[in-house]
Amino acid sequence: MRSSQYDILFEPVRIGPVTAKNRFFQVPHCNGMGHRAPSGMAAMRGIKAEGGWAVVCTEVCEIHPSADVSPHSHARLWDDADIPALARAAEAIHRYGALAGVELGHHGFRAQNRTTREVPMGPSSQTVVSYDPVQSRVMDKQDIRDLRRWHRAAALRAKRAGFDVIYVYAAHGLVTPMQFLSRRYNQRTDEYGGSLENRVRLLRELIEETKDAVGDTCAVPVRICVDELIGPSGLCADGEGRDVIEMLADLPDLWDVTVGDWSNDSRPSRFGDEGVHEEYVRFVKQVTGKPVVGNGRFTSPDTMVSQIRRGVLDFIGAARPSIADPFLPRKVELGQMEDIRECIGCNICAAADNTYTPIRCTQNPTMGEEWRRGWHPEKVPPQESEDSILVVGAGPAGLECAVTLGKRGYQVMLAEATEELGGRAVREPRLPGLAVWGRVREYRVEQLHRLANVEVFLASPMTAQDVLDTGANRVVVATGSRWRRDGVARYHRSPMTVLDDRSVFTPDDIMDGTAVSGPVIVYDDDHYYMGGVIAEKLRLQGLEVTLVTPAPLVSAWTVNTLEQTRIQRRLLQIGVRIRANEALVAFQDGEARLACTFTGTVQPQPAKAVIMVTARLQNDTLYDDLMARSDEWEAVGLKAVTRIGDAEAPGTIAAAIFSGHRHARECERTTGQEGVPFLREIPALGSWPS
Ligand code: ADP
Ligand code: SF4
Repeated sequence: MRSSQYDILFEPVRIGPVTAKNRFFQVPHCNGMGHRAPSGMAAMRGIKAEGGWAVVCTEVCEIHPSADVSPHSHARLWDDADIPALARAAEAIHRYGALAGVELGHHGFRAQNRTTREVPMGPSSQTVVSYDPVQSRVMDKQDIRDLRRWHRAAALRAKRAGFDVIYVYAAHGLVTPMQFLSRRYNQRTDEYGGSLENRVRLLRELIEETKDAVGDTCAVPVRICVDELIGPSGLCADGEGRDVIEMLADLPDLWDVTVGDWSNDSRPSRFGDEGVHEEYVRFVKQVTGKPVVGNGRFTSPDTMVSQIRRGVLDFIGAARPSIADPFLPRKVELGQMEDIRECIGCNICAAADNTYTPIRCTQNPTMGEEWRRGWHPEKVPPQESEDSILVVGAGPAGLECAVTLGKRGYQVMLAEATEELGGRAVREPRLPGLAVWGRVREYRVEQLHRLANVEVFLASPMTAQDVLDTGANRVVVATGSRWRRDGVARYHRSPMTVLDDRSVFTPDDIMDGTAVSGPVIVYDDDHYYMGGVIAEKLRLQGLEVTLVTPAPLVSAWTVNTLEQTRIQRRLLQIGVRIRANEALVAFQDGEARLACTFTGTVQPQPAKAVIMVTARLQNDTLYDDLMARSDEWEAVGLKAVTRIGDAEAPGTIAAAIFSGHRHARECERTTGQEGVPFLREIPALGSWPS
């Protein structure tokens, strides 16, 4: 059982007319499922409720076709036809005694309205935030009245769908009430613009009208940005952000406080620690008597207790920690602290929403798979036989596979070539800013220690003969991958021909501690985090570093993980030179040749070393050797050999963990689905002219 110091986290807290059973509050978060996959969304929320969260919210819920953010798939309450889909989420949440919350939102001039083709509208005429050639119109008085009416109607629908907590959303710069609040978006001269009193008017009206519509039985919180992080020209904690809370102090039933835009609110661990928002939000409880929830990648129960005891927050808000471990509250409640699967702050979850796909998570391979594959984060099916299983390689894929097979009850041997468990989850966390990613290894190694049926063999590089000698009935090859040094990735699809091998290095060399001398070119045709991280590491060692990339941005894919701006800013600030839209086409005799990706014009650039951050090669020797000896399997009792993770195809850590988990969960089981390996939600056909 837990120690009494955590009891405070399990106190009930009243929110207007409803009561939360404890202080764990899953704040709204995107999930890429929304209205396109409502059962998937509902099941995922239901699992959070089962895991002990007292309040479980949906993502933002569009209230009207005048603000459509497709192709993002969020919840919708455009009309009554949307009620059943959302009711499913409320029902799933209620099943475990949690309060169901919904975040009603209207995106104002941020909505491109790509599907509805309505003209976006906002307090002023503004271009949309994407590069879409779309501009909003100025809302007139009738538009404002309409918006208030739509919001009220959506609140009533949310109540009919079964929700207990119905938000007014004014955060992240995303939504109309916040656009009215912020001086830089609101250039009106009527009673909705100018003074703060006027700019607050719409938010005040929405709160009052929502409470009037549903406040008898439902709580009405406000999610608000208290500091836009742009100084006094925006809302700020020692300026208008504070003033707004003071003006509305006890009007909403709860304040859900955020800081900056989404990329700040979901700050990647490379750029912010747990509780990073405290300095901006701690004033809120001093100016309201209503409960306050805030987030900050809280995964440590001690930090949570401290936030409550010091009067910073009343509720521990969480999006990512609840994604990485939907059972976090339950584990704290039972005192199972070592079982908490802590979020690593990599934002792969956010990338799913930004690429319009169902949510996934590096730490929690079941996230987003609760309904369509029937995966539960804490339960696995029992073993199907007494087969013994050998897993070769203890990187993320091998570790996850061995742990999951062990939990199923199989006898497992885990053989790792090096002296340490973890593979890339040991090596990469030693790079600048990635220390928190070490939790990938820590969680799984902790689980391994509890499993008496999993034997671990370190310093055991396995050959095919070694494998056959073990007598294992099944073999899983999780031998990982290594970075290429021949330039092959997206720009060069076959090896570069003019390349001075002696001065070409890879991220593996750098992680192994190989010394290089400058000036150095980091050639990034990978486009995820590694190029930027290696450039940062070498620059911090004092080398002259130029990052060359065929992409227009450094670490271009990290736009999806909400990191790109910070990565490029950091590199520029520490003096890394950046040459974008250029490809390395040759490197010889101390000179690199860089070609413009548009014109092909080639320019020389002196360099003593090139670090190739390009594609990777799977370590498939063991797998190939075993397959070549398949006629010997039967004699030693071997039935199947499978490769997983980077050994199958190099990818993200999230993909490796998913691969390891999937293989372990499905071992000796069919998915029951021929062809499509998961359930699908197929939209109902509309009417058709006869
Ligand atoms: P993944 O991301 O797929 O888990 P990693 O590269 O992180 O891949 O991990 C692969 C692990 O496999 C490394 O720890 C590596 O030392 C180990 N390994 C590679 N080849 C062998 C082998 N033949 N025998 C045992 N371990 C191996
Ligand atoms: Fe945390 Fe990464 Fe999982 Fe998101 S994907 S919840 S940031 S571990």
